[in-house]
Amino acid sequence: MDRSGLFAMYNNNADAFNTAATIYYGLFSMQHRGMDATGICMNQNGQFKYKKEDGMVIDVFDEDVLERMEGHAGIGHVLQCAAPDAREYAQPIVIRYTSGQMAVALNGGLINTEELRKELELQGAVFQTSDDAEIISVLISRARNHFETIEEAIADIMPKLKGGYALVVMTPRKIIGARDPLGMKPLILGKKRNSLYLSSETCVYNELDVEVIREVMPGEIVTINQSGIKSFQQISEEKKALCAYEYIYHSRPDSVIKGLEVFEAREAMGCILAKEAPADADVIVWVPNSGLASAAGYAKVMNLPLEDAFIKNKFHCNKFIQPTEDMVHRGVTMQLAVIKSRVQGKRVVVVDDSMVRGTTGKVLVDLLRDAGAKEVHVRIAAPEVKYKCYFGGNDLDMESLVSSYKTDEQIKDMIGADSLAFLSIDGLKEACRGTEDTLCMACFTGKYPVE
Ligand code: SF4
Repeated sequence: MDRSGLFAMYNNNADAFNTAATIYYGLFSMQHRGMDATGICMNQNGQFKYKKEDGMVIDVFDEDVLERMEGHAGIGHVLQCAAPDAREYAQPIVIRYTSGQMAVALNGGLINTEELRKELELQGAVFQTSDDAEIISVLISRARNHFETIEEAIADIMPKLKGGYALVVMTPRKIIGARDPLGMKPLILGKKRNSLYLSSETCVYNELDVEVIREVMPGEIVTINQSGIKSFQQISEEKKALCAYEYIYHSRPDSVIKGLEVFEAREAMGCILAKEAPADADVIVWVPNSGLASAAGYAKVMNLPLEDAFIKNKFHCNKFIQPTEDMVHRGVTMQLAVIKSRVQGKRVVVVDDSMVRGTTGKVLVDLLRDAGAKEVHVRIAAPEVKYKCYFGGNDLDMESLVSSYKTDEQIKDMIGADSLAFLSIDGLKEACRGTEDTLCMACFTGKYPVE
């Protein structure tokens, strides 16, 4: 499964009003984490009401639906999904079992899915989807029979889950949040008056005026309900492996992860890249939207003007009909156009956040050359993506990752740039204030944090 965003709210205010709408807005602020499917499950006096469909938050929910679902607590999920039928992977997963009802939403991916599925199928389990979240919900429901509380059941199954994940689980009486012991996927606790929240990113809290309490710690299980916050356990492992891609691309620039603002980290990536790979140029341009911070850093160190040369169609969405080859070349799929006066006759450096297939790089170079740029130098504010992510970072095979089979020089020729450079691994560590023992960088290094 690809990346996702989680948002949960337990409303302890006397007028448990607007909970569903708040979750809607929370997911809307995290739309960048997934545009393919959206789901919300609400707790209406112990009864679960839910809706999940393919599409973005505004496609799936409207005022009437939210009003009908209203309750005092709920969990929501947005999903980016490479599979053709995103609906199959829409979450939360809602099940009925011997102890009642449970809704589960997951950000991340397991690497032992097949093994767990086979084991459960041999014990008689029947699955409706091929989603990791469904496997987790079945594991919890089975473990629950042997324990007094759901937290104990989750603690029992966590060692069986190999991979990187953040989880939110709702029962009629509480919401539980959990992170894998390596802390690969973020999950943050928030508070506003008497209401308690869990979110994949702090940017949501900025918008909803929610106070950040703290991150759920790697390996920790927390409960939010009427009694407040309770930390159930923390599996303490020395090594951590926060996904470095959260800083590079997944998170919104105004989010803060482990005390470091994402914009600041990206700007540092650009600064370091400029020192590692300066280019003789007249102007720096950035690729909307995630290339801005690193381009600003690159321009600052190079002491060159940063130009807003690309125009992006505000109504861009992921439901386009198949474009022709010529349309792809002209940037139609990315809904990008270039303001000629910014680049005509100039030596241009275009800074982007990362390069995966190389197709975007080619489009950018073509667009800039068509607009009259004299030279086009491409700078990528991340190392070469050479390896597959098994933890919900991307679902791309090695054949799709251009750096896994081409050298930088070959990619430069393929995209038609005058020069091409990537940020080094050391540069990435420095910008994210991390080390090999605190960050997952496996898609760049091939050193996976889980065997
Ligand atoms: S392999 Fe890459 S995308 Fe996947 S968790 Fe690690 S750093 Fe993130």
